Formats: sequence, C-alpha cells, structure tokens
Amino acid sequence: MTTDPLSWLDERASARVAAGLRRELRPRPARSPSIDLASNDYLGLVRHPEVIEGAIEAVRRWGAGSTGSRLVTGTTVEHELLEAELAEFVGAEAGLVFASGYAANLGAVTALAGRGALVVSDAGSHASLVDACRLSRARVEIAGHGDVDAVDRLLASRTEERALVLTDSVFSADGDLAPLAELHRVTRARGAVLIVDEAHGLGVRGAGGRGLVHELGLAGEPDLVITATLSKSLAAQGGVVLADGRVRAHLIDAARTFIFDTGLAPAAVGAARAALRVLRREPHLAGRVLQRAADIARIAAVPAPDSAVVSVVLGKAQVAYDAAQACRARGLDVGCFRPPSVPEGTSRLRLTARADLSPGELDTIATVLGDVLAEARGLDVVRA
Ligand code: PMP
Repeated sequence: MTTDPLSWLDERASARVAAGLRRELRPRPARSPSIDLASNDYLGLVRHPEVIEGAIEAVRRWGAGSTGSRLVTGTTVEHELLEAELAEFVGAEAGLVFASGYAANLGAVTALAGRGALVVSDAGSHASLVDACRLSRARVEIAGHGDVDAVDRLLASRTEERALVLTDSVFSADGDLAPLAELHRVTRARGAVLIVDEAHGLGVRGAGGRGLVHELGLAGEPDLVITATLSKSLAAQGGVVLADGRVRAHLIDAARTFIFDTGLAPAAVGAARAALRVLRREPHLAGRVLQRAADIARIAAVPAPDSAVVSVVLGKAQVAYDAAQACRARGLDVGCFRPPSVPEGTSRLRLTARADLSPGELDTIATVLGDVLAEARGLDVVRA
C-alpha cells in the first residue's frame, strides 16, 4: 500500500485553521474601490504617471528582462545611475542594486560576515536579516529588541576579530525606531560594522525622506552600511546596499545573491529612478506620510507612530483576523499580522499610512475603523 507523502500537510493545514492562522492569497483588482491601508506604497507613487512612464521607457529601451547576472549582461547604465542617485540621496559613498531587498540583506550580511565573524542581530530584525544570519556561517547572537547594552556586552566579550551588528531602522511590525545613534556609538567603539535596514525608513524618515540614518547625522560613516528595498516608498521592486565604496567593490566580488541572481529588471530600475526624482522634487511627501499615520493612530486610539506603520494590537489571532475581514468587507484594505510574524497573543491590524490619503478617505477610515475596533476590543475581553 502506498502512503501519501504529503498527508502531513493536511494535518498542518487543519492545525493552522484551528488556531486561526490560515493564510489566504487575495488577488487584488487592478482598480479597487477599497482604501489601501495594507500596502507599503507609503508615498502613493505606485501609479504616479512619471513613475509608470519611467518603467515603460526603460522597458522600451532595454527590454522586459535584464537578461543575466549583473556580472555578465544584467548591468545597464541605468542600474549604475540608480546606484549613484540613491547613494547621493542618502549621503552614502556608493550603492549596489540587487534584485530585491531580501537579496540585498542576504548578500550584504553573508559577504561581510562569514566564518570567523560574530553577527549580533536585534530580536526584531526582519526575516531577511534572520535568514542572512543563518546563511552567514558566522557565530550569531540575538540581542533583545533595542537593547544597546546587550549589543555592547556581546561585542566586548567576542573572540572574533570581525563583528557585524544588524538592525532595521524602522521595525516593520510595530513601526518603532531602532536606537541607531547609540548602536552606532557602541559598534564604533568595539570596532564593528553596523548594518541598518532602511526598508521602512527610506522615503519616510529624515529630511525629504533620506532615511533615519541621514536624520541622525550618520550618513556616510564608513562603518555603517544601509540596506533598503525599492518596493516601498520608491514604488518599484528591488533592493540596494548603500555604503563605503570598498563595501560595494567587495559585494560585487563576493555577494552570492548579487553574483548568482539575475540583475534587477529594467522596468523596476526605471520606476525607482522616476520615484526618486518625484521624491526629490516633492520632499514634503515624507512628512505628509507621518502626518497621515498620526491621523490614523488617533482614529484607532493608539499612540502616534514614528513611521508610516500604525500597529493596532488586538491579542488573539482569530480576533485580529475577524477584524481585518470586517474592515475589508466595508472597503478598508488592512494588514493582519499573526504568529509567526508577531509573538503569540499580539496579533494585530497593521495599518500603513500613505502620503496621498484624502480627507474623504480619512473620514471613511474613521467610521469603519471606529466600529470594527469597538467590536474587536470588546470581543477580546469577553473571550479572554
Ligand atoms: N527588510 C524589511 C525590513 C522589509 O520589510 C522587507 C520587505 N517586507 C525586506 C527587507 C525585503 O525587501 P524586498 O521585499 O524588496 O525583498
């Protein structure tokens, strides 16, 4: 008798359903009547005519795909222009574009750490940094979230010559900020390198959206490496490492996700360049997204965030799931974070602000969110 080698998947699926943890893919319509509070299109540029035109022009000129690794045929002059423009924007010496932010993190960490190094990562670091630690073959230590003293202690007691410290600048689940100035102080004092993932900081924090590193006066420090995605504020796709020129040269030679991955598609390069042009011309977009986030936080009766992410913790996974569905049924597209993305008992709605939310949309958000949260918060108490 043959047994079904995939039967364990049915058991896993049933367990997830029972725990309120099932996940569904919901294809979005091209033009949705819903209000988007779920995407990472923080500056509302994903349909900006100039950004769309940037993508189209690049495709016309270079074709649909990049045709190969960056080291072979996958580099166009536009890739290099984008790298220089992004580096200049955040105040770094050089930039290197990857096929995604995930690949940028994997590439930067694995190429700069490796066997014989210590990597200290914040407990809240993004999954791509977590995976980068695992792939790095370095000794990995996890410091408590935002715990600079722990980072300092781990660096001080190391036997390894080289050490890397990893953190997000803006944490994606809660939207809180890393203590970057303090982290940089201890990494410098201990002769380590700080890698800061600005995925949620670029376009949102700092003068004109130059990021939290720039805001804190740390731009261009040679012992600080920025990674970022082009898929959030820059409304495109892809990732980038912004750092000292020696880091760029090393990554070209050694970062496996750079060498063995196909170069970023021309459309994404063209779109990201155009979005950066728009942001330079309209630097107020960064401040506006923070204002809209404060508006949404007020509606949800949670503290105003330091980023575009408004996190409304509801507790149980099922309560958060039901609240998200209720919002969606009434035309509010919201994110819902449940374990393993967030710790048990802290399932939440994740609402992302956009710079282009209109007063009318904010009124609708107030009505729908007010009703749904009143019900969800009541339910959680009853079921607790
Ligand atoms: N870092 C952080 C903090 C992120 O939130 C994300 C995307 N969710 C990434 C890296 C990965 O970027 P990308 O989606 O471009 O691969």
